[in-house]
Amino acid sequence: MNLVLMGLPGAGKGTQAERIVEKYAIPHISTGDMFRAAIKEGTELGIKAKSFMDQGALVPDEVTIGIVKERLAKDDCKKGFLLDGFPRTVPQAEALEVLLTELDRQIHYVINIEVDTSKLMERLTGRRICKSCGATYHMVFNPPANEGVCDKCGGELYQRSDDNAETVGNRLEVNIKQTQPLLDFYNEKGYLRNINGDQDIEVVAKDLDELLGGLIG
Ligand SMILES: [Zn+2]
Repeated sequence: MNLVLMGLPGAGKGTQAERIVEKYAIPHISTGDMFRAAIKEGTELGIKAKSFMDQGALVPDEVTIGIVKERLAKDDCKKGFLLDGFPRTVPQAEALEVLLTELDRQIHYVINIEVDTSKLMERLTGRRICKSCGATYHMVFNPPANEGVCDKCGGELYQRSDDNAETVGNRLEVNIKQTQPLLDFYNEKGYLRNINGDQDIEVVAKDLDELLGGLIG
């Protein structure tokens, strides 16, 4: 079960990733974790990656891809893996194809958890925080009893600047621009499976199980 998981911020990717790796006992390979592990182990590529990160520079693809290859070659990936946060670009996706061929493997599905931009905006801009006690609320999922007032202490609720519509909208737009070519690439390869993420978490999970169940049989 060799999977790549994609989805915009707020699509619920993290929650579903946790479920998949637990249910199917495959490792969750996120880019951040992978870099941290390589740096901690002091591998040659880890040291290289760290030198770029220390300068605040982007880690070049050849280093990133080398780290991915080392990670996918490990024993715990024999049954499969869930890649999350890699690849980010078409050249990275092409390099992943090459390295999987070298490892005599192939991707089964690229799962894209789809949610309308307007729904994502609602999810990502709904957070409110209490000025007095720091309690957090969400206008849709966990609203306070009285608008703008903390249930716990009566304090005033505010929205962090990171959560405002303009910032969130820009972040989504950048993400959509970056991921669309990748989705097109995987669609042409026949790997892409879109899952409707605009449903209850349990329903999304069930749709994923129906898709992935076919790989075990
Ligand atoms: Zn409060």
